[in-house]
Amino acid sequence: MTKPHLANVAADRPAEPPVPVALSDIEAAAARIAGKVAHTPLVVSPSLSRLCRQPVHLKLETRQPIGAFKLRGAMNAVLALGDDRRRHGLVTASTGNHGRAVAYAARQLGLRATICMSALVPANKVEAIRSLGAEIRIVGRSQDDAQAEVERLVAEHGLTPIPPFDNPDVVAGQGTIGLELVEDLSELALVLVPLSGGGLAGGIAAAVKAWRPEVRVVGISMERGAAMAVSVAAGRPVAVVETETLADSLGGGIGLSNRVTFALCRDLLDEIVLLSEAEIAAGIRHAAREEGEVVEGAGAVGIAALLAGKVSPHGPTAIIVSGGNIDEAVHRRIISGAAG
Ligand SMILES: *Cc1c(COP(=O)(O)O)cnc(C)c1O
Repeated sequence: MTKPHLANVAADRPAEPPVPVALSDIEAAAARIAGKVAHTPLVVSPSLSRLCRQPVHLKLETRQPIGAFKLRGAMNAVLALGDDRRRHGLVTASTGNHGRAVAYAARQLGLRATICMSALVPANKVEAIRSLGAEIRIVGRSQDDAQAEVERLVAEHGLTPIPPFDNPDVVAGQGTIGLELVEDLSELALVLVPLSGGGLAGGIAAAVKAWRPEVRVVGISMERGAAMAVSVAAGRPVAVVETETLADSLGGGIGLSNRVTFALCRDLLDEIVLLSEAEIAAGIRHAAREEGEVVEGAGAVGIAALLAGKVSPHGPTAIIVSGGNIDEAVHRRIISGAAG
């Protein structure tokens, strides 16, 4: 079988450089991270298949060593660095799944990782990252203060920043999920992907559509502060007001000078669907009760979109269950039906 080429998505915009993540980059990422990151299971959901009258599969990224897919992108980005860029160690400001991923990848590869965070980050999040072997640097009282410290460590001490999504190596790493889907489910018709900064959705869409252009890829965000949805609608990256949401891993902006993921999502996603907090809670509850999976809010949005009837599968469907790192007390409250 000859390899299809990713359509040149920038063909009608000659003034812009082509989108910098091609199928060959994603295949190179898959070879690089093999054995260091899990090829996760794709399992049938009998209850969702009955509901949708189509085979519905769950891609369980909850089974990655850190409990979320972010390890793919971080591991690929770190492995792609030359020795001189690794020497002074890695740095990021994420306190969530990306911070865990950078810490874990650094430890696996014998490198130093520094995670910058503000004094307002809860102790359990700090400990989760410290226990993975990272150095913690507490600075200021906001995420902006933490990011400023990242930039200082890069400029003054030569540390290498590993961004959470807007980086071609990170996107290529996340795109390896798309290669696994095409390999494991040949009749694939629809992919439902949680969407925040767009590294996950952009990477998966680039991989899947390169092999199977007819497959629909739908991004799913929460109604509260859906930065990519608002940006795609506006035709340029825009800032949104952040509000608390059950899908906390989907919070944050896409960056006003976004280089990679905005163009990918604008050009490759077929649709973006938004969910209420009650719908996301129902997704978490369904995952626990019907699928036996502990899934965080961000990881449950694909299930939630089907339950809410906001997406109607027209053929075999894969839901990216992106992560399972949810506070135990919050999870208990949701599955008992008290929330949402
Ligand atoms: C980061 C994250 C996402 C969103 O990924 P983006 O690349 O930022 O769109 C979805 N789910 C989980 C669990 C995450 O940690």
